[in-house]
Amino acid sequence: MKEREYQICNRCIMDTSDPEIVFDQEGNCNHCNEAIERANGLWFPNKEGEQKLVAIAEKIKKTQKNKEYDCIIGLSGGVDSSYLAYRVVQLGLRPLVVHIDCGWNSELAVKNVENIVKKLGLDLHTHVVDWQEMKDLQLAYFKANVANQDVPQDHAIFSALYGYAVKNNIEYVFSGGNFATESILPKSWGYNALDYKSLKSIHKTFGAKKLKKYPYVTFFRRYVYFPFIRKMKIVKALNMMPYNKDKAIEMMKKELDWQYYGGKHHESRFTKFFQAYYLPHKFGYDKRRAHISSMIVSKQITREEALEEMKQEVYPDNSHIEDMEYVAKKLGVSFEEFQKIIDMPNKTYRDYPNNEGLFQFGFKIRDKFFS
Ligand SMILES: [Zn+2]
Repeated sequence: MKEREYQICNRCIMDTSDPEIVFDQEGNCNHCNEAIERANGLWFPNKEGEQKLVAIAEKIKKTQKNKEYDCIIGLSGGVDSSYLAYRVVQLGLRPLVVHIDCGWNSELAVKNVENIVKKLGLDLHTHVVDWQEMKDLQLAYFKANVANQDVPQDHAIFSALYGYAVKNNIEYVFSGGNFATESILPKSWGYNALDYKSLKSIHKTFGAKKLKKYPYVTFFRRYVYFPFIRKMKIVKALNMMPYNKDKAIEMMKKELDWQYYGGKHHESRFTKFFQAYYLPHKFGYDKRRAHISSMIVSKQITREEALEEMKQEVYPDNSHIEDMEYVAKKLGVSFEEFQKIIDMPNKTYRDYPNNEGLFQFGFKIRDKFFS
């Protein structure tokens, strides 16, 4: 890759690889400025957070006591969801744990899931997404040449998890989503994984099979049925405690026989290939930058350490080829064919029918009346 000639933020390490970034007079960017502003009111890594969390847990115990489970957790085996499961049990809650297998899990992640449920004595449901359909959908996404190749898995994980919640009459969803490691993600780098119209239209254009078993969620189901008819609530518990990633990892290694796989979201070879090769190579940005910038904002890492970490190449000396071969083979295409697909001109989700307008309208209503 050529030398970066990008302008970079003075406080975090976001730069003009996000074409929409804006800098203020001090040279700080809109991402860290907005994150710091948002932190008030949603991030409590202190006593106040502990008190809030205990109060929520007590309320849940009281109101859910006649049910088999107090809440539901999606467990991937990664740092966030594993630590969340541990803390939820510490709070005295009885969670149903659901692991969604989209076909890419590493043995290490699966082992982590097994160890956690065994050590914590939890009930586990594993949902295996139909691989033939998953494969067809993922290949369709590559052929669509869009950036957001994580959508087929993210959509299925969300939909399957909420499906289990409804089936088991569970009101509370504990989410591993958190401010400490995820406060920054530029709009231009991602698109809403829950836009089923977008997913359907991409699959209709490039897919070959019918999706019959693939778990999906419509706009109505997500934004009307779940919150207003089923009265489901999302609890982002990691925002109500001092969540430090390194400390969480150390603790889990000791207490849960948990093992680290290195790198955010590198628990699967697909995600590693997608984030460390596909996006930087084809779209010119590295999602690590946003993740590490989030950790600067939450003071888990200094800017100097962050810049040092960015220098480390995830795939030195073309070592991405091995993972690329693996991904191609799993998707049922030859390496050459896969290379050809990836080398086609870039597109965005906007090139295909989607529900962006509806989502924007919905978010406006939510922000106006429900926040
Ligand atoms: Zn910044």
